[in-house]
Amino acid sequence: MDITLHKPWLVSLKNKIHNPPALFLDFDGTLTPIAPHPDQALLDPSTRGLIQSLCKHLPIVVISGRGLSDVKKRVGLSRITYVGNHGFEISNRKIKFQMKNETQWRRFLKKLRSQLEEDLENLQGVWVEDKGITLSIHYRLAGGTARRRANFILQNRVNELNNQGKIRLSSGKAVWEIRPPIEWNKGKAVLWVLKQEGFKRRWPIYIGDDETDQDAMRMIQKKGIGIAVGPPAQKGAAHYTLESPREVHHLLKWFLENLPPSTPTAFK
Ligand SMILES: [Mg+2]
Repeated sequence: MDITLHKPWLVSLKNKIHNPPALFLDFDGTLTPIAPHPDQALLDPSTRGLIQSLCKHLPIVVISGRGLSDVKKRVGLSRITYVGNHGFEISNRKIKFQMKNETQWRRFLKKLRSQLEEDLENLQGVWVEDKGITLSIHYRLAGGTARRRANFILQNRVNELNNQGKIRLSSGKAVWEIRPPIEWNKGKAVLWVLKQEGFKRRWPIYIGDDETDQDAMRMIQKKGIGIAVGPPAQKGAAHYTLESPREVHHLLKWFLENLPPSTPTAFK
């Protein structure tokens, strides 16, 4: 991985980081390549090493649709902030975000999960992941017929709940997601984090590859910088693009080499 990143926009980024930023990093498809099964997405030790070095100089937030404990385990660093479940779970050593009526919601979702598991039982390549506050129905490994059948079942089972405002149904890369019916997303989570201790007076740099990351990039468009991972055509609300998690790795390295030496330690 020892090549240098060549992007014309690094010149302007270098000028901006004299004013110390906070770095928000999506996990799947940004820090790690998209794996066939979510269990297989592992963080490269050299990328982990870069994040570990960087968090001595600026606050780092790893933000994911995964459950908080899952993403925490995969990154395995204690001095950073984690945002899980698309923003519904946030924590670091000093802060913890709690959703309103969380206990009731978890109970309701547990029931819905067993119904869905029963409905989708015989569809190969389709599985339900329980992330506590949200449910993900994955179909990355399903064939066309199983996928269509799953879509049909899902619409039957949850469309009405969605229409009644009891849940919120959304879709991502080869996944449907059932979330609490609350106006909350990665973008709102980023704004919440920026008000917490250790983040005040910081401006956000957000790197992500998915549609859910675009929510965050739209929200920070004026106050920060969004960097989309993927082809330039999928830039959306981002200011810049990187081709792949490999280029993200190189940008992290670039930060380490180019952050002003006076940038103070974010978290002890
Ligand atoms: Mg992603």
